[in-house]
Amino acid sequence: MSSNHTSPQINWNQIDTVLLDMDGTLLDLHFDWHFWMEFLPQTYAEKNQLSIEQAKQVIHAKVHAEKGTLNWYCLDYWTAELDLPVAALKHEMKHQIQVHPEVMNFLARLQQLNKNVIMVTNAHRDSLAVKLEMTEIGDHFDLMVSAHDYGTPKEDIAIWSHLRNTVHYNPNRTLLIDDNTHALRTAQAYGIRHLLCPIHVSPNMDLVDPEGFPAFKSYAEIMP
Ligand SMILES: [Mg+2]
Repeated sequence: MSSNHTSPQINWNQIDTVLLDMDGTLLDLHFDWHFWMEFLPQTYAEKNQLSIEQAKQVIHAKVHAEKGTLNWYCLDYWTAELDLPVAALKHEMKHQIQVHPEVMNFLARLQQLNKNVIMVTNAHRDSLAVKLEMTEIGDHFDLMVSAHDYGTPKEDIAIWSHLRNTVHYNPNRTLLIDDNTHALRTAQAYGIRHLLCPIHVSPNMDLVDPEGFPAFKSYAEIMP
């Protein structure tokens, strides 16, 4: 898509709760992309005496088959499926984890304004743990939820009612920021009123197509 977009107008007075995705939204998605598309195939190739190309084909086919499911995000699933210690391998790469510019300021500002700030990620708890270890984003959240806690990814509308059993929030006064347009669609269908798509998921990757959702490239555009 083109990089032309108008910065969204947000009336922060109408928002009590901010739901935030993690990977791509707060953190540079290149870490995950590189891990799955380069580092893991290389390790798999060495272990199984395949060429890198063969290993990539095998892993890409397996990953593609699980897209949009909870397995896609599940380190336990991939540890069994690939017979590789996926969580331990992620730890080897952890120095590459990066927070997007302005994210720490944005989170601090939400906290100052007394917003209820909740992370809702499809990431597995082990993935979440390594990212919290390597960044300071965790300090700014009232609550952090992994979709694995519910057994339901954000691509399933049920997650938004599961979340309401965990924490009080009024969908009509809630903002979701998520680079996953499937998640934005289920949230919209559930009645979450304010939706934003961060399209700049990494300096090393293409912009996301926001599929009609209000979009922004930099947190400076939406800073309260
Ligand atoms: Mg994401």
